[in-house]
Parts: sequence; C-alpha cells; structure tokens
Amino acid sequence: MAESMIKIAEVERPDILRIEDLRVHYPVRQGYSFRRGFLKAVDGVTLNLKAGECLGLVGESGCGKSTLAQSILGLVPTSGGRIILDGREVVAAGRAGRLERARVAQMVFQDPFASLNPRHTVGQSLGGPLKLHGMADPAERHHRVEEMMRKVGLRPDAVRRYPHEFSGGQRQRICIARALIVEPKLVVCDEPVSALDVSIRAQIINLLLELKNELGVALLMISHDLGVVEHMCDRIAVMYLGRIVEQGHWNEIFTAPAHPYTQSLISAIPDPMNPAAGTIRLRGETPSALDQPPGCAFNPRCDRAMPACREGSIPDFSTLSATHAARCHLLQGL
Ligand code: ADP
Ligand code: MG
Repeated sequence: MAESMIKIAEVERPDILRIEDLRVHYPVRQGYSFRRGFLKAVDGVTLNLKAGECLGLVGESGCGKSTLAQSILGLVPTSGGRIILDGREVVAAGRAGRLERARVAQMVFQDPFASLNPRHTVGQSLGGPLKLHGMADPAERHHRVEEMMRKVGLRPDAVRRYPHEFSGGQRQRICIARALIVEPKLVVCDEPVSALDVSIRAQIINLLLELKNELGVALLMISHDLGVVEHMCDRIAVMYLGRIVEQGHWNEIFTAPAHPYTQSLISAIPDPMNPAAGTIRLRGETPSALDQPPGCAFNPRCDRAMPACREGSIPDFSTLSATHAARCHLLQGL
C-alpha cells in the first residue's frame, strides 16, 4: 500500500517550472548603420522541471543560458512565451513580478564576490531576504540565519564577518545559503563553480546535491561544461544559439547522444581512464546570434551536414524515447 502511494506520488510530481516557447530578443543597432535588428538570445525554448528534480542546461558561452536563467527570475524582460512557476504564470512586471518569482525561485550566480554586497555582513546578507519576504521576526531571523550557515558548512559565528574575509568557495556557500534561506522550490544555479578553483568545485557541487536531497528543492544547473553536470543531474538539456537542440535523461545524453553538437561536447570531456580517446573537433566559432545561418543553426560546424541542413527549415524535435528528443535533420524519417 505504502509502496503504491509512493509510486503515485512519483508519477504526479508537479511541475515547479514550465517554460513554453520562451523568447528573449534584444534590440541592437547593426554595424554603423541605423538599422535596428534583434539579437535572438533565447528563441522558442520549451522546458519543464519537476519538484525536487535537477535539470542540467549546457551549451557554449553565448548560447543564451544566462539570459534564459535571468528571464525565469524576471531580471530581463521576455519578448514572447510563458513562464509558469509552481503552477502560476507570473504576469506582473518590474519589482512586483520579481518579488512574486523570488518566493518560488532563487538564483546562485557565477561570481560569488560580485553577487554579495561588500558593505553587508553575512548576517545582513542572509537576513535581508527573510525581512523582504516578511518571513520571520528579528529573533527568529537570527536563529534561521545561524541554522542556514551550519547547513552550508560554515561556522554560525561567521555571520558578523564581511564577504572579503572569506575564500571564493566559502563565499559561494554564503550565496547558496542566501538562496535557500527563503525556502524556495527552485534554485537556478548559473555556472556556480566556473569562477572557483578546480580543487573546490567538487565540494560546492556535493553541497548543492546534499541540500537538494535534504530540502527537496529543484535545481536548474547551468554550465558550459558537460562534465560538471554529469554526476548531478537527472535530465540534461543542450542549448545551441538560443534553442534547445537535445534533451534527455542524463544516461541517454551520455551513452547515446543523438545531436552532432551534443556528441562533440561529450567527446571534449577529458577521460583520465582513456586519454587516447579521440575528440570530435568543432570547426569554427559559434555563429553570431544576430546573424543566424539558414536551416539548422549548427550546419556550418557540422561535418555531417546535408543540403537539407543548409537550405531547409529549422529541424523539429525527433522523439527517441519517452524522455529523449533531439533536433537534427539526420534523425528525421528514422
Ligand atoms: P551564455 O550565458 O550562454 O554565455 P548569454 O545569455 O549571456 O549567454 O548571452 C546570449 C547572447 O545574448 C549573447 O550573444 C550575448 O552577447 C547577448 N546578450 C546578453 N545580454 C545582452 C544585452 N543586455 N543586450 C544585448 N545582447 C545581449
Ligand atoms: Mg552565462
């Protein structure tokens, strides 16, 4: 009986985040002319994330990962599509919209130093969000800040210290504590370990995983490095020039990557057990999001590109399993 109830709960885990056909287009001036164009940083992204799930979002620098993350939190205006957080579409703009989203979703940024106010003690940085959301009276606030410090592996008496007195890894722990203290259902982590020493990256990743399991919070883990998300994500979405090109269970992405772009990202992960393994080298740079090639956006760098990839339309998703899909002309008609 108990087991069948657990199964039902598994199946019916609600979506904490649903993104439908999201677009973020930045107006830009092109060259020296006065012609205005649009840089399509995010162009038609559809994603979902269940309660307590960890979704990895990977892709090269400039493909639109941070823009997508910021649009979820209302930090950049969207040009189209819908964002549904914990079952509710947030329509309010500006500060009201940001506050409404912040109750459900919090963010951890790449640079922990830049995201902490240097003039605030750690206690003030952690107590601020509680006060903002009216979540605790001053005495209780103090208690919750100390408890959160312990949870992220810092001494509770460090609350009187300032950000510059901590190391990079400790500062990222403080940022994680600040994100979790308002008990969000989703934490968006934008390259949370990219600015840290290689030696402490694993500690921060393990901390995020422990807290996810303990608190049941969902994680959107953004990284340009597939290796970082390999061991922590349930599912992985691969982004290229503003669009998702492949999505699947982590196992499917790592053992049977279907899109040539995903294949090249995976082959670029160093394998210490097999240093002779070949790497698929990508030709050229990522094309500009301002001037996307016709057809599949990856075609200029793909060594398997066919005429349909260069001249045809943007490929639709081909379904490879109940959880795995990729957008590639090579897969169409399979
Ligand atoms: P990533 O996080 O994957 O490196 P970003 O989301 O930061 O990518 O950027 C995606 C694209 O949007 C890039 O081409 C970048 O130059 C452009 N971009 C980001 N922010 C702005 C902005 N405020 N105005 C114009 N273009 C922007
Ligand atoms: Mg970024």
